[in-house]
Amino acid sequence: MQYKRILLKLSGEALMGNRSYGIDPERLAEYASEIKSIVDQGVEVAIVIGGGNIFRGIAGASKGMDRVQGDHMGMLATVINGLALQSACEDAGIQTRLQSAIKINEVAEPFIRRKAMRHLEKGRVVIFGGGTGNPYFTTDSAAVLRAIEIEADVILKGTRVDGIYTSDPEKDVKATKFDFITFDDVLRKGLKVMDTTAFTLSQENELPIIVFDMNTRGNLQKVISGENIGTKVNL
Ligand code: UDP
Repeated sequence: MQYKRILLKLSGEALMGNRSYGIDPERLAEYASEIKSIVDQGVEVAIVIGGGNIFRGIAGASKGMDRVQGDHMGMLATVINGLALQSACEDAGIQTRLQSAIKINEVAEPFIRRKAMRHLEKGRVVIFGGGTGNPYFTTDSAAVLRAIEIEADVILKGTRVDGIYTSDPEKDVKATKFDFITFDDVLRKGLKVMDTTAFTLSQENELPIIVFDMNTRGNLQKVISGENIGTKVNL
């Protein structure tokens, strides 16, 4: 195994499957089985889950809602997704803990770094909900922050595209994929990997990011084994 402890970032939209809103149970079950395949090999797995399939603060703000209020709704959405993912993981036979950045004690443990690390050492998957707990941030920033805090070896950003391209492959047939790219080149070329806050935090802390297609069965396992799928962003 190339990596001992990973942080997997899943967007809320990824949980929608082919729907336009909410959570697709089949997609959840597929993700749980992918996650189980690497947990069974002794990889320590932490997950940050997004909320975009339910609510995004910025979308509320664009329709006149107070941004902070909207972001609170977005953070709660990530907790809902975290609960759904926890349930799917437990159905797959994985031990999990959900930790939330906002206090919601009847539903999830509060985020406590030492506890999270202890869970990981015991082979439990730790799902981080509630983002960073602050408005005006994204779950990409939460992913980088938590990855650094728990001393993860890498951030795996599971998406529906198989890496970082010269331009949007869904719009440009001439787009080509990078196998490796440096943080500086991503910034220089204006490529979109994560929002700038998240990306810079990762760069400053020398934490590599791998962008890969999470929707192809076996891919998570391949990334963990060091197979060159997706795009790796490194110093
Ligand atoms: N959010 C927030 N602070 C955070 C993380 C998330 O306020 O630290 C809110 C924000 O409104 C965001 C929503 O939660 O739009 C859902 O998160 P995100 O958009 O990152 O989810 P994803 O795009 O990964 O599904």
